[in-house]
Amino acid sequence: MEKQILILGAGYGGVKTACGLQRQDIPFALVNDQPYHQFTTLMHEVAGGRDHPDDYRIALQDLIDPRVGKIRIGTVSAIDWKGRRVQVDGAPLEYDVLVVALGSETEFFGIPGLQKYSVQLWGFDSALDIRRRMVELVKKATAEHPVNVIVGGGGLTGVELTGELADWIPHLSRQYGVHPEHIHLILIEAMETIVPMLDVELQRRARQVLEQKGVQVRTGTKVAEVKEGQVLFDDHPPLSYSLFIWTGGVRGNRLLGESGFPVDRKGRVPVDPVFHPKGMSDVFVIGDCAAFPGPDGRPLPPTAQLATQMGDHLAQNIGLLLKGRPLNAFHPHLRGTLASLGRGQGIGEVGNWKLAGGTARFLKEANKARYLWSIGGWKTFSRKRGQIRWA
Ligand SMILES: Cc1cc2nc3c(=O)[nH]c(=O)nc-3n(C[C@H](O)[C@H](O)[C@H](O)COP(=O)(O)OP(=O)(O)OC[C@H]3O[C@@H](n4cnc5c(N)ncnc54)[C@H](O)[C@@H]3O)c2cc1C
Repeated sequence: MEKQILILGAGYGGVKTACGLQRQDIPFALVNDQPYHQFTTLMHEVAGGRDHPDDYRIALQDLIDPRVGKIRIGTVSAIDWKGRRVQVDGAPLEYDVLVVALGSETEFFGIPGLQKYSVQLWGFDSALDIRRRMVELVKKATAEHPVNVIVGGGGLTGVELTGELADWIPHLSRQYGVHPEHIHLILIEAMETIVPMLDVELQRRARQVLEQKGVQVRTGTKVAEVKEGQVLFDDHPPLSYSLFIWTGGVRGNRLLGESGFPVDRKGRVPVDPVFHPKGMSDVFVIGDCAAFPGPDGRPLPPTAQLATQMGDHLAQNIGLLLKGRPLNAFHPHLRGTLASLGRGQGIGEVGNWKLAGGTARFLKEANKARYLWSIGGWKTFSRKRGQIRWA
């Protein structure tokens, strides 16, 4: 009898698994809470008003061949891994093989008021929300009532978003006849540097580029509490905000812990080299909700780079599983890190190379092209290439 393969989540990991199964003609069902696959790594571009928002998502029906894959749009509310079924919009869905690729969610670290008063850059809708709020705020900015936009978290997401907003503000100001000096963009970071995961020289470069774009970069500012219109710190005066965007941390999708999966302190499920959680031979967990050990034994950071590789690998392994052959262990290829600093600049580390300026930005654009091609070939590439800016 045909095995029921069920994939939860149509992000980077889930879509790559689905596309890999499709190429092998292996039937599957794919559940996602939205009818599209969103390019999450580019959501700062949507929030920062760069291109048409629709360039940053693709309908699942344009990726999945209905002869091989069934798409089910709905929200997964529970995973009963002992009974081999999941609840989707309250109805049970059974499986023989389960792929969990439900991604992560924002971490608020228990900081009072943070979740309530901040907006987060996560999916497509939240990015559009930030985009709309920015337009409304800029329209209202005056010398008496300047607008303060604060981005919390100087990691890759926060820095990419800040760079994008910094480039957009002058355009918006011109469009609405507002003086750009009446709009303040502030990046706050608890650590003593932004992008601490990168080389020291690149950290300095990122700060310099953002400051040249008019951003106030404030490091060593740890958020203690957020109130309506005000961020409070332990040892700095409070800052007023018109919009506070929190990008300071992620944790695994809480549904996993709630469904009885063993999780680490970041809510991620520890998995073995073929992505099985301990004692669950018919379940695979990949992407941001998996804690996969790196060379030093610590879990690798949650990235799209890793999620896509895991999805590709898992699709091959499911092919082997169905043939009754042993599964291959996953060996990640960590190619490096790239981040944009607005529309024309970037920074990154690729192998031993430290990159900055136009080269890093160009490689980031090349990555977009490569990804589009990998999920849907020429058809997808030609439809969505509006998001790629070669020059
Ligand atoms: C602004 C931004 C920039 C980033 N830039 C980079 C970058 O440059 N490089 C990089 O490698 N990584 C980057 N990342 C991180 C990267 O986006 C994630 O690591 C990646 O998306 C993880 O892939 P995933 O498949 O595990 O989860 P996701 O891509 O998050 O997919 C999860 C899917 O599950 C769906 N889902 C969630 N819960 C449910 C539910 N209960 N029911 C049904 N469906 C559900 C979601 O809608 C989504 O479609 C960035 C992240 C952000 C936010």
